[in-house]
Amino acid sequence: MAVPLSQMWAVASYVLRQRVARRRHYATVLMLEPLLRCNLACAGCGKIQYPAHVLKKEMAVADALAAVEECGAPIISIPGGEPMMYSHIGELVRELVARKKYIYLCTNALLLKQRLEEGVFSPSKFLTFSVHMDGDRDAHDFAVCREGTYDKAYEAIKLAVSLGYRVTTNTTLFNHVDVARTRRFFDEMMALGVESMTVSPGYSYQKAPDQHGFLKRENTYQLFRSLLENPRKHWQFNQSPLFMQFLMGKLHLECTPWGNPCYTLFGWQRPCYLLQEGYARTFRELIETTDWDSYGRASGNPKCANCMVHCGYEPTAVHETFNSLGGFLKTVAATFAGVPDSARGHNITPPPVTRRVTTGEAAPDAPELERALRDAVDFRGDVRITTRDGGVHEGYLFNVSDDLVEYFPSREAGVAALRRADVTGVERVGRDFADGKSWEAWVRKYHEQKAARAAGEKVETIGIFSEPL
Ligand code: SF4
Ligand code: SF4
Repeated sequence: MAVPLSQMWAVASYVLRQRVARRRHYATVLMLEPLLRCNLACAGCGKIQYPAHVLKKEMAVADALAAVEECGAPIISIPGGEPMMYSHIGELVRELVARKKYIYLCTNALLLKQRLEEGVFSPSKFLTFSVHMDGDRDAHDFAVCREGTYDKAYEAIKLAVSLGYRVTTNTTLFNHVDVARTRRFFDEMMALGVESMTVSPGYSYQKAPDQHGFLKRENTYQLFRSLLENPRKHWQFNQSPLFMQFLMGKLHLECTPWGNPCYTLFGWQRPCYLLQEGYARTFRELIETTDWDSYGRASGNPKCANCMVHCGYEPTAVHETFNSLGGFLKTVAATFAGVPDSARGHNITPPPVTRRVTTGEAAPDAPELERALRDAVDFRGDVRITTRDGGVHEGYLFNVSDDLVEYFPSREAGVAALRRADVTGVERVGRDFADGKSWEAWVRKYHEQKAARAAGEKVETIGIFSEPL
């Protein structure tokens, strides 16, 4: 069985309780991002392109736990950045286990062996390592832009399994995927002893260096049909059967982004893990003030047109499964219909609560200023903000609401906020960390390094990072 019965029951009973309470907007999985820095720089990742002073920040454990309590979701997924680099990862996991939360710790596993040897974790039915593996050795090393990562993750998985930990893999598929090799990769992972596998079409991150690899909806259907046709008996997937049918184009689901909310260093991200359209200070504020009708395919929002990622659609599938007898029967039917039968199934700053607010006399609203502020929120470098009282403020601007403009100051800890009405100007002053040049440079470097090694030159490491793993 892919998932322990106790976990299934925790989710099922939670969904039923929401139904009894007639709650429409509730979360089944909280995606908790305690930091944004990583020891890799994958071409398809849109999470790590920030100025150094933002990448150095880490969420306080108390802040993370307050978010967990307020949200109430039975499952906590900890992505990042790389959570094994988070200074308090052991403490955070212990606290979550004590609260009987089922944790999926999403890691590239480069530090997993080290953390296991340090005794940071203990095996528990509540703790699963979800290891980032984007295919076989060649496919994975290319996707994560660093040679040697597959072997390192492979060894770490083997060790974690042998120590009695729950381990799953997490595979993101892009449009250059080779179906036959990926099927062999599934065999290899199951033979390694992982509990189950998660597969997802690549998130079309606006800020990812590689903008060419994301799948359009029709390509996703085709890919998943070929991949999951005649599934092998021993494949286990950590996804609901209805979501797998959706990926294969056999079932229509609508996005319910509130089902997998993301709490990050900036607050509760609107509307989902993928898009960054402002932040709320509390889960309640997120639920009550986000214009949910503007998102999902049915909304006509072009940003959602090709999106089929699990953070939007898996909660819909889970809701369908447990919310009615019809949904439950549909899931049973999907389980026996040949969709994988196995588918049975981040320097420390205070949490962003204490905001220093600078005030002044109100400045007139101007369309250019509105545009400049929108542009500044989208920019992944530092900006300079001027205020009516003559003040000049520099930092990473992450949120503009009706009343406040919030930013991480470049040279101070914590979060600062200005009254929206006081702002008179904003200009880019830092480097755009998501300008796309890094991907082109990486591809060029990768091919040069491969050619040099093939020609007999000594090339120690192929990848963005020069030091060996
Ligand atoms: S995808 Fe994961 S491993 Fe790769 S750079 Fe982003 S956070 Fe790091
Ligand atoms: S469709 Fe995708 S991008 Fe749009 S809200 Fe849902 S999860 Fe986010």
